Amino acid sequence: MKVFTIRNLCKTYHTGEVDVHALRDVSLDVDSGEFIVLLGPSGSGKSTLLNIIGGLDVPSSGQVLFGDQDLSAASESALTAYRRRHVGFVFQFYNLIPSLTVRENVALVTDIVSDPMPVDEAVDRVGLTPRRDHFPAQLSGGEQQRVAIARAIVKRPAVLLCDEPTGALDYETGKLVLDVIERINVELATTAIVITHNAAIAGMADRVVRLGDGRILGIENNAHKLRPAELSW
Ligand code: ADP
Ligand code: MG
Repeated sequence: MKVFTIRNLCKTYHTGEVDVHALRDVSLDVDSGEFIVLLGPSGSGKSTLLNIIGGLDVPSSGQVLFGDQDLSAASESALTAYRRRHVGFVFQFYNLIPSLTVRENVALVTDIVSDPMPVDEAVDRVGLTPRRDHFPAQLSGGEQQRVAIARAIVKRPAVLLCDEPTGALDYETGKLVLDVIERINVELATTAIVITHNAAIAGMADRVVRLGDGRILGIENNAHKLRPAELSW
C-alpha cells in the first residue's frame, strides 16, 4: 500500500533579490512500511522535502498525497491535525524538557492521540527502561536521542521522519540510534524516512534516494536489506 504519492514537487524560497530553488520537480512514491534514506550534500533539499512530507512546510507547486489526503491542498488546521496524528519527528537536537524525567518527557505527548502506546513500552523499545526515571542531563547524547525517538513513536505514528538524527553523535553511537529506528520500522511497521550521513544506514534502508540541487539524482533499491541487529542494552 502506498503511503505517500509525491508528484512534481517544487519549492522556491524567495529571499531578497534571489529565488532559491530548494526542490525542482521531485516525484516519489513511498510504500507503507518502507525504510527510505535521503542522501545528498548540504543544501540539496533533503530537509525541505522531509518538512513538506511532514506537513511542516508547503510546496510552491506539485502534489503530496498521504493515502488519498492531498496535503498540498490542505488547510493549515488540517495539516496540523495530520502532523499531530500521523507524524513522529526526530531532529538532530533532542529538544527534551530538562526538568522532566525520561518517562515524563515521553508521557507529555500521549494526550495528542486517543490510542497511545503505553509510555513504558515506548521507553522499553528504545532500551531505556533502566534509565526511565533519569533526567536528560544524566543521559548521554545517544540516550537522549533515544528518548526523542520514544517520544516520537508513543503516538503510534504512521510515519517516522528523522532529519540527521545522528548528526550530533559519534559513529558508533549513531549506529545504535539507527538500529533502534530500524527495529521500530520492522516491528511496528512504521514507515521511516531518514536523512543521515552515517554509513551504517546503507544496509538498513529499503531504498536510498539521492538528492542533488533540488532534484532526485537516483534511487537505489537495497536487494540485501539486513535484518535488525540484536540489541543488548
Ligand atoms: P539540506 O537539508 O539538503 O541541507 P535544505 O532543504 O535545508 O537542504 O535547503 C535547500 C536549499 O533551500 C538551500 O539552498 C537552503 O539554503 C534553502 N533554504 C532552506 N530553507 C530555507 C528558508 N526557510 N528560506 C530560504 N532558503 C531556504
Ligand atoms: Mg538539512
